[in-house]
Amino acid sequence: MPRKERPQDPSAQTGRRILLTGGAGFVGSHLAERLVREGHEVICVDNLQTGRLANVAPLMQGPRFRFLRHDITQPLAIDGPLDEIWNLACAASPPLYQADPLHTFRTCVQGSQNLLELARETGARILQASTSEVYGDPEVKLQAESYKGSVNTWGPRACYDEGKRAAETLFYEYGRLGVEVRVARIFNTYGPRMSPEDGRVVSNFVRQALTGEALTIYGEGQQTRSFCYVDDLVEGLARLMASDANGPVNLGNPGEFTIRELADLVLEMTGSDSAVVQRPLPQDDPRQRRPDIGRARELLGWEPRVPLREGLSRTIAQFREELAPGRRQAAQ
Ligand code: NAD
Ligand code: UDP
Repeated sequence: MPRKERPQDPSAQTGRRILLTGGAGFVGSHLAERLVREGHEVICVDNLQTGRLANVAPLMQGPRFRFLRHDITQPLAIDGPLDEIWNLACAASPPLYQADPLHTFRTCVQGSQNLLELARETGARILQASTSEVYGDPEVKLQAESYKGSVNTWGPRACYDEGKRAAETLFYEYGRLGVEVRVARIFNTYGPRMSPEDGRVVSNFVRQALTGEALTIYGEGQQTRSFCYVDDLVEGLARLMASDANGPVNLGNPGEFTIRELADLVLEMTGSDSAVVQRPLPQDDPRQRRPDIGRARELLGWEPRVPLREGLSRTIAQFREELAPGRRQAAQ
């Protein structure tokens, strides 16, 4: 398989033909916007399981964006050459990926294999949106790529965690066959256009605060997460795709917050007088999560720039608009 020579600087490559799976989802739609803005042609493949056409509606008006409704667990043929494949297809919110665990697992494994075959046929470079969930419920405070993880193979999160781990294996096996693979281990990312109903903590708390519902803290709220603003993540993904990085690269914001701290911050920033209630902690919920981003700094010259307060303020502004009376139905 001939390897294409690529410059390091992503902005130096224009007019690429790109397949983006999961492009109607939260992260995918931000990435699609950026790629189209840079002058590339984007073929977006999505089954709309958790994504929304509204996320890409403005892009669909333009000539460089095409939407294909397709499930990546089924083989996919694309006419013409492809330079890159970005595989973001997979529900990311725990209640949503647990709603059909077998499909989630097949999306990770069969879906990745289908796309890797396409990469092998076309010579496209392929990037996998992997996850900090490959570390499971970590026994180390700071998770570096060298940490092998602590994952339950049979719990309710396994369809996603083990699916993503198996997908990484597939990526590196195809890498050994000559396919150019990149793997991003993404930590919790938030921002405008998360679905208000998708059940993740940021979208839940912001929606609850803005609509006067009680904020639901699972367990004591002492578990931690590190929240990365979506624009920072997209910048990291772009740099990773353009790089020569071998092996997985963590992309996340090392700022670590307890879930209770997040609830307090959302209440303060929205000016909401919503109550806070406790709900049972879901099984296997990781107690802590914080990325070591040394590799991303060294290999990509990347680190996040948007502090949580600023990112939340942009997210709250977009949620306010989307949840305004009369707008809610239209956005779903
Ligand atoms: P999302 O649920 O908003 O988007 C996922 C998209 O994939 C949706 O548009 C959905 O319809 C589509 N999809 C799901 N299964 C599919 C299938 N079988 N075939 C075709 N399309 C399918 O989630 P997101 O937050 O945008 O996450 C995007 C990717 O990044 C996912 O792969 C996720 O695992 C990964 N990731 C996200 C985070 C995060 O915090 N946002 C963290 C770690 C990893
Ligand atoms: N969480 C919470 N209330 C909610 C939703 C989630 O306390 O309404 C907690 C959840 O138990 C977890 C953390 O917030 O400890 C992050 O959850 P999320 O679903 O956003 O992502 P993940 O668990 O995959 O990191």
